[in-house]
Amino acid sequence: MPTKGLIAVFTGNGKGKTTSSLGLAFRALGHGHKVCVIQFIKGSWKYGELEAAKCFSDLLDFHVMGRGFTWKSDDLEEDKKLARDAWEFAKTVIAENKYAMVILDELTYLPHYKMIDEEEILSVLKKKPAELHVVITGRYASDKLIAIADLVTEMKDVKHPYQNGVKAQKGFEF
Ligand code: ATP
Ligand code: MG
Repeated sequence: MPTKGLIAVFTGNGKGKTTSSLGLAFRALGHGHKVCVIQFIKGSWKYGELEAAKCFSDLLDFHVMGRGFTWKSDDLEEDKKLARDAWEFAKTVIAENKYAMVILDELTYLPHYKMIDEEEILSVLKKKPAELHVVITGRYASDKLIAIADLVTEMKDVKHPYQNGVKAQKGFEF
């Protein structure tokens, strides 16, 4: 039976969006499926997963785009250009259809901060290859993105160790 490629969105203010997408990647890799991760905000994959990714280098491709926290940048035009370049690259990867799963990590911030046009993202997603799974993470997923997605999970912040003064720990946070 052919695969129905899904559009999955992990959004919300709670922790677990990027790590959930990595869980899906892990599962797909276990079947020998090829996965591409495009990180739109630099640093959202941490040291631990970057090291672990090396174990899957034959199946997993990983691309870091853009800079740090772009919406606080002092060079907005440069950030917009980086965002557009990253999105152009993502469009090519989707159209080439060489992967079973493409993860667009932190993509939601780009339309939210008007760095790229949301309508264009929606149109690319609607026309994506039929068997390709596309996973999008990040806060502020728009109603339109939610409407065209097949799976949407909102991480809700109930508790985070940070609120009790627990600093980021190796093997859990990075
Ligand atoms: P993770 O990468 O751990 O799955 P995420 O993708 O859901 O987190 P982002 O919004 O991308 O979260 O933020 C990345 C960083 O911010 C992570 O180090 C994460 O632990 C931290 N973070 C996420 N949510 C919260 C929260 N509710 N309170 C404090 N820190 C948070
Ligand atoms: Mg994240």
